[in-house]
Amino acid sequence: MKLKAQIIRTKRKSLSLKITNDGNLEIHAPLKMKTEDIEQFIKSKSNWINKQLKEVERKKKFAIQFDFQNFKYLLGTKSEKEKNFSYKAYAQQVLPGIAEKISTNMDIKFKSYRTITSKRVWGTFSNKKELSINYKCVILPIQLITYIVIHELCHSKQMNHSPKFWKLVEGYCPKYKSLKKQLNDYAFLLQDKQIK
Ligand SMILES: [Zn+2]
Repeated sequence: MKLKAQIIRTKRKSLSLKITNDGNLEIHAPLKMKTEDIEQFIKSKSNWINKQLKEVERKKKFAIQFDFQNFKYLLGTKSEKEKNFSYKAYAQQVLPGIAEKISTNMDIKFKSYRTITSKRVWGTFSNKKELSINYKCVILPIQLITYIVIHELCHSKQMNHSPKFWKLVEGYCPKYKSLKKQLNDYAFLLQDKQIK
């Protein structure tokens, strides 16, 4: 695999490496650091870099298997897509019910519910106790939707991502760590413009 590397020099004190989503290497370096030293650092991190690149590759392969032109994906199941199928409309039909059910099971209430469009997040929970869920959640397997709703509803007790918050999530969803990882593979959906 060919690796494109870019060195970005800024007023900083230490080096940091980042693998971008398209599989390039970004090096943030102090203004006056010698190029040799930077190269040495990159060499010393080659194991880490290779691991990250494999991860980018794996995620790409995962995303490629979806064909949103010809198929629809609902609650983790692929089927033939009707001409005027709308994810937004479908989401508005099914997501409120799913959220309601999970809220009842957890005994954590929300005041109002909204299905939202966002390129950044799967859901939010406001301090006015408004639960918002991204319509693209309907594409996900039900256990991931469940994790998202549990996560958001736990924010009604902890408005942060502190250890306390994650303990709370774990109480309702013992497998949350693995679900969080799985959800990460679906992050490409958020940016996708053809899913409407
Ligand atoms: Zn959160």
